[in-house]
Amino acid sequence: MFEDIGQIKGWLEDLLFPKSCVNCRQEKSWLCGECTKLLKAVAMNLGSHVFDSGNHLEKLWALTDYNDLLAQKVIQAIKYNFIKELVCSFDSLIVEMEKIIPAWSREFVLLPVPLHQKRLSYRGFNQAELISERISRLLGNPLGDKILKRKIYTRPQVGLSQAKRRENIKGSFLLDNKVEWRFPRNNVVLIDDVYTTGATMGECAEVLQKAGFTNIKGLVIAHG
Ligand SMILES: [Zn+2]
Repeated sequence: MFEDIGQIKGWLEDLLFPKSCVNCRQEKSWLCGECTKLLKAVAMNLGSHVFDSGNHLEKLWALTDYNDLLAQKVIQAIKYNFIKELVCSFDSLIVEMEKIIPAWSREFVLLPVPLHQKRLSYRGFNQAELISERISRLLGNPLGDKILKRKIYTRPQVGLSQAKRRENIKGSFLLDNKVEWRFPRNNVVLIDDVYTTGATMGECAEVLQKAGFTNIKGLVIAHG
């Protein structure tokens, strides 16, 4: 009947947590084939981005628009319903990336925006890390060493004004001195799922700049 424990696990999971498409509710997968095709890459080159602190991202790219309701549903299902497999729905956007972002280089070192340990334990994964892993798998970009740490547990940013977001996140990140950075310091791309006001990425960029990183870029799945 069952050949291995993995099959039993899969069967039990299907029984207890039947999958259905987050968009059209069709059964069997978290995002059905038709809805996956609806996720379209619209590269947004948001140019360089200067934060209030004076720190800046040389370039900021988004693969889709958060106002795209489907992208929003998928991102929310990953984060709030813990469906990490859905990260693979962005594969087609990632594969398109080199076409729509001609400046993309496979030499860029990926650095996911970290989660606080408490939220990481609660969610079980960091979605920015999963996105970075997909990019690395599909395009071959190296995954950077986890040099950024989130030291302060902040309340979720959703629903906060721009000023409040900045205040909320100020000083939240630091450099983990125990981690050795084995790559050049001038080729890093910060990776996150969503870019809203830029408060989070701005803070990360600030910490990196202080540590001698230059030409910091940012890439997110959705801007909105
Ligand atoms: Zn569907």
